[in-house]
Amino acid sequence: MADSDMNLQTIRQIVAEFVHEREWEQFHSPKDLAAAISVEASELQELLLWKTPREVDEFVNDAEGIQALREELADVLIFSLCLANRLEIDVADAVTSKLQRNAQKYPVERSKGSSIKYTRIQTRLRLYSKE
Ligand SMILES: [Mg+2]
Repeated sequence: MADSDMNLQTIRQIVAEFVHEREWEQFHSPKDLAAAISVEASELQELLLWKTPREVDEFVNDAEGIQALREELADVLIFSLCLANRLEIDVADAVTSKLQRNAQKYPVERSKGSSIKYTRIQTRLRLYSKE
């Protein structure tokens, strides 16, 4: 299945059915799901931990490496969808709303090509507005 073949609601339903068949809802408290997301994100990071930029390039261009990354990314997304299901969070609305807020924090004219955190951008905006 590819992204273009399935919508988010269908993926959420598949995740919910997987959980329900195993009666795992009893373990899916918001606290534990949040922790599970963090654990899986750490497993994703661990795959690249201590690697040089060159080693990372080799890892992501290796079939086994990219498969390992794919699986850990899937774990992060699955637990994220479990949390969304548990709390009845509309993922599309949450993501688009947050991107709108981020767009305010990171105006294109101040952020394009820059990795500066928004708190420093705001400081720079205040400094520029006083000039
Ligand atoms: Mg994992």
